[in-house]
Amino acid sequence: MFSHYEDPLSVLEIDLAAIAENWLGLKKRLKPGADCAAVVKADAYGLGAKEVSRALHEHGCRHFFVAHFEEALALRGTLPADALLYVLNGPWGAQPKDFIRHGFIPVLNSYNDIEHWSKEALKQPCLLHIDTGMNRLGLGAKEILLLAEKRNVLEVLNIRYVMSHLACADQPSQAMNAVQLALFEKLSAALNRPLRLSLANSAGIFLGERFHFDLARPGCALYGINPGQGPNPMRAVVTVQARILQIMEIDVPGTVGYGATYKIAPPAKTATISVGYADGYLRSLTGAGAVYIHGERCPVIGRVSMDTIIADVTHVKSPGAYAEIIGEHQTVDDVAGQAGTIGYEILTSLGKRYKRIYKT
Ligand SMILES: *Cc1c(COP(=O)(O)O)cnc(C)c1O
Repeated sequence: MFSHYEDPLSVLEIDLAAIAENWLGLKKRLKPGADCAAVVKADAYGLGAKEVSRALHEHGCRHFFVAHFEEALALRGTLPADALLYVLNGPWGAQPKDFIRHGFIPVLNSYNDIEHWSKEALKQPCLLHIDTGMNRLGLGAKEILLLAEKRNVLEVLNIRYVMSHLACADQPSQAMNAVQLALFEKLSAALNRPLRLSLANSAGIFLGERFHFDLARPGCALYGINPGQGPNPMRAVVTVQARILQIMEIDVPGTVGYGATYKIAPPAKTATISVGYADGYLRSLTGAGAVYIHGERCPVIGRVSMDTIIADVTHVKSPGAYAEIIGEHQTVDDVAGQAGTIGYEILTSLGKRYKRIYKT
């Protein structure tokens, strides 16, 4: 097994067909007339915004959300001209004329954003963000009611959608969902003009038709992350495998890894595997993570390093070439649970060192 020195050290397989199927499945859940966007910010949650958005465009997706101007720029050359690119963090990082030249649609999150945008971008498409309780981005209730009075300001805006964002959509029993829904309906109505609305992220889609409005904005569910707390309705998208670099037979008592924190007693066998925290195998998986070899669970022992982890493979007869980091035996959400974080952070941390294989 160790003779294949030309093997890739780590392999990230991304199933574009599964992403497309997830998008189509979410779209089918929406009430008639509602459209389905794709959130492809942060390089499509680390999986490759170009590849992902191209695949989704082929399946009919026309609305794409990124967070930064630069992310929109990276997609403009990739996607056909009928793709609409929305920039969640607002008209920052470039001048309004640059947004307009490329046809990017900023989300106006504050009254400052509105003034800045309307000065130079008369009647150019934008989204208006209402904060309904998350207190992160968007105009609050008072500001929306003031804006409603300012007919001259509203006249120069070309609002494609009024949007808001749910704080607790993954917890259907949270009272806050209904509170945000009611406030969203009330404040958007206060603007007193026909406006299209957008509220639901992935989890919001599963809260029911009242949350769907005109445009849903799923992200995580496209990438196979469970949008709720029950059984995952989405197809898995990501497989991560890493090369076993070395097997060690432990025949004297000793320790494993930095800090010599893990004591190991003979007889034992360890595998050093080519993945580390620089590859999104988070350091917080120290003492908690495991890999699978031939379907057998092998606990990660000692501290996670930058480029390697060490697994206890004492019970594995002949460890092969690769260990499963994410895949058939443990999902992205499982690994996130072990790391004390969420699947979103695992995916966006994966990094650049993997050999990427896109399955279509
Ligand atoms: C990231 C984001 C989404 C997508 O959320 P998911 O939970 O990944 O579906 C939707 N809307 C806004 C405003 C976001 O920031």
